[in-house]
Order: sequence, then C-alpha cells, then structure tokens
Amino acid sequence: MLLTITTSRFPADNLGYLLHKHPAKIQSADISAGKAHIFYPEVSAEKCTAALLLDIDPVGLVRSSGPKGNDFALEQYVNDRPYVASSFMSAAIAKAYSSAMNGRCKDKPELVDVAMPFTVKLSVLSVRGGEAVLRALFEPLGYTINAQQHQLDPLYPDWGQSRYFTVELSHTITLQRLLSHLYVLIPVCDNDKHYWINAEEVEKLLAKGSGWLEAHPAKEMIVRRYLKDQRSLAGQALSVLLSKDEAEVEEAAVEAPEEVTEPKVRIHDLRLQAAKDELLLAGAKRVADLGCGECRLLKLLLAERQFEFILGMDVSIRVLQIANNRLKIERMPDKQRERIQLIQGSLTYRDKRLEGFDGAALVEVIEHLDPPRLAALERAVFEYAKPGTVVVTTPNAEYNVLFENHPEGKMRHNDHRFEWTRKEFEAWATDLAVKYNYNVLFKAVGEEDAEVGALSQMAVFSLQKDNLKND
Ligand code: SAH
Repeated sequence: MLLTITTSRFPADNLGYLLHKHPAKIQSADISAGKAHIFYPEVSAEKCTAALLLDIDPVGLVRSSGPKGNDFALEQYVNDRPYVASSFMSAAIAKAYSSAMNGRCKDKPELVDVAMPFTVKLSVLSVRGGEAVLRALFEPLGYTINAQQHQLDPLYPDWGQSRYFTVELSHTITLQRLLSHLYVLIPVCDNDKHYWINAEEVEKLLAKGSGWLEAHPAKEMIVRRYLKDQRSLAGQALSVLLSKDEAEVEEAAVEAPEEVTEPKVRIHDLRLQAAKDELLLAGAKRVADLGCGECRLLKLLLAERQFEFILGMDVSIRVLQIANNRLKIERMPDKQRERIQLIQGSLTYRDKRLEGFDGAALVEVIEHLDPPRLAALERAVFEYAKPGTVVVTTPNAEYNVLFENHPEGKMRHNDHRFEWTRKEFEAWATDLAVKYNYNVLFKAVGEEDAEVGALSQMAVFSLQKDNLKND
C-alpha cells in the first residue's frame, strides 16, 4: 500500500525539511501492524515526491490486537488489510510524519504555515459508499479528486465494481492540514473494523480535526465512521463539534432540570396525547416529531398503524441516545424498524430530510429558542419543510400564577427563553399562518381556569389546499 505526496512549489525539495525525512535516505518505522518505509522516488527543485510504503504483516496482525474477522473462518488471515489504505495507514502517517503533523519544522519553521500545491496519490483506497462518499468527504475541504474505481475481477466484468479506488487528490494547502485530513478521512472511507476504539480516540479525532471538522458538512458521518459507530464516543465527539447553536442547547439540557414548576400531574401526557390525536385526525401518514426529546411522543405514534413513517428529530445527541435506548429500534422487527428513524439536526436550518411529511409536531419546543432562532425555525418548518399539518404546543404563561410558590415573572423551566400569554401565542401563530398560507386553530391543553386558561396551549396549522397545488 503506497501513499505518495508530491509538491511542485519551488524549491520542491523543501518537502524533505517539512517531513523531517532526508530525501537521500530510505527510512523505516515500526507500527503495530507492520512496517512503514519512507523514500523519495523523485527529488528536484521543480518537483519532489515522498512515498510512504506500508508493509502490513497479516500474521502479525492476527497476533496483535488487530481486527478479528468474523465473516468466514480464515478472514483473519485472508483479507484486504495488507493491500488497502486503512486505519493502519493513519497510524503510519502519525508515526512517520509526526513532526509535520504537529506543525514542527526545525530547520525551516517558516514553511509550516505556507499553503503549497500538493498532489496525493493513494494506490488503493477502499471506499464504502463509493465515489459519492469520497467526494462528500474531500470536496468540501477544497480537494480536486481524480478517482479510478477497480473492477472486482477484470476477468469477470459481470461481477461489477469493487469498493477499491486509486485516488489522486490535489489541493493548495499546508502540509500539516493535508496530513490531518488524510489521517482522519482514510479510515472514514474504509469504514472497516478499526483496531482503535477507545476514549482516547475521541481526543485524537478532535485534535486532528481541529480547524476543519467543525464546519465539515459530513461531520456526522465522519465522526460515526471514525469511531466505528460507537454511539457513546461519537456522541461525545459530536457534542464538542456541534455549532454554537447546537452546543448551547446541549448545555441547557445538561444544566436544566426537568420542568421545574409544573405539577407532576401527567400534564405532559395530555399534550402528547393531544398532538397525536390532531395528527390522527388530519389523516397524516408520514409524521415528524420535531424536537422529539426523549421520544415520549414517538412511542405513542408508533402504536398507531395509521402512521406509516415516523421521524424523530432533535438537536441534542444526548437526548437522541436516550430515545434510541428507550425505543430499542435495533431490536424491533424489520417492519416496525422501517417505520421509524431518529435523526440529529437543528430546526433553525433548512433541512431536506424534513420535506414530504403530512404531519409534524413541535411539543414544547418553540419556547426553547431565542427570537432570532425562532424566526429561523419558522422558515425551516413552514416555508421549506411545509408539512400538511403542524401541531405546536407551548406553555400558557397566564397559568403560572396558579402555581404554588412560583415567583412572579419566573419561567417554568430554566431553559425557556419566553413563555407566552394566550394572546401572544395567538398573535404569533396567526401571523405565521397568514405568511405561509396555513389555516390555524387554537386549543387548550389541560383543564381550563375561567380566568387564566389552561396550563398549556396548542395551535394546529393546516396547509391551505391551493398552497399545496402551487408546489
Ligand atoms: N418534544 C419533546 C421534548 C421537549 S423539550 C417532548 O415533548 O417531550 C425541547 C426539545 O427541543 C429538547 O429535546 C431540545 O433538545 C429540542 N430543541 C431545542 N432547540 C432545537 C433545535 N434548534 N432544533 C431541534 N431541536 C431542538
């Protein structure tokens, strides 16, 4: 398995200084799975290429803590690991080019921060998901990609394509950044059984991904694949990488106790029941629970056969993990499992995954958003996702005076950004309905007090028919 890095920035043989590897020598480094050899097939002031040849010892691999195959008896001896770039290549990069990865260059430190034209060639990269995944990973970082996919067997073209590619990546970038991209993304492409999965890897991923992974549109896939779908680790890493928006919600979720003031009467069950009833009544088949929290509504929805597909979305990885544990989706029979999906995302961004639903519920979600973010949510839900029916519930602030020992003006929950009176809620919802061509009805949730109304309030929006036709 060969990785070459070429630059043409004059004088190109500076690459030797940057990599801390003398161009005239062949050098070797031991890694757990074999040996890495570093040499220069081409050195001149015009063009310089450093090669890293990885020599994996498949037998040594079995003896060490390498990946244990379980697909067939000899898999641990007969597999593609010696021939493809995988997490072993990352380990070799980290070992052979450690100074460069850490941004150190003893003799020419001024070169460290210089973006140079580089071309990287990976002789064989296994990419699960094919070229689309390769592009989704490298293109947002600015790489030009030239990928050649190999047939499973050239003698039997009918067998089709393999997952193996010869890949050339070009970019003008610092060497340090280039190496950190390769370090993280090679095993992400491969997505095989890595030999590394422990909490330390979260730190390594965050360190190597620093400065680019936060803003990468495929960061979720990168983190999950890198950490091999270990939910708890991926959750830790993602919560560090989430945007400020998202991170604030995560923090609030940790700090804020559950509803602090509301009586323990299962008022919340009433809201959920009311939301479910409205979605049933609307005849919705594909429904989304937006800001689903720990999946209380999802459970109710699953019990109704009318709902053919149910999506739960929340910004908080932590609550999604709880939801996932509670629902035990993996253990559901196939038919049931196909009906439900949990996704992480923020309602303050347009999200194509939310399009095409007949019904959506936002149960006690809007009051968790600051006004500018609420405006973004309005557009994301009513302008772009545009479900046929939208059920929104929120506390009725007027009712707070009936709570015992509840100081005036205090909100029910530490993370609430506002609590509206019935008038305020109705004004907001009516404006929204007019703006996005919905009809809206208001309902009380819970027993109504003659003066201050009920504990919670609900708006049911239905998309006007001619609005539907326009699209
Ligand atoms: N609907 C649930 C949870 C209500 S608590 C229930 O009734 O039980 C509010 C939920 O909204 C939290 O889980 C929080 O993580 C989520 N949330 C807050 N801001 C969000 C945003 N911008 N996008 C998606 N979810 C959000």
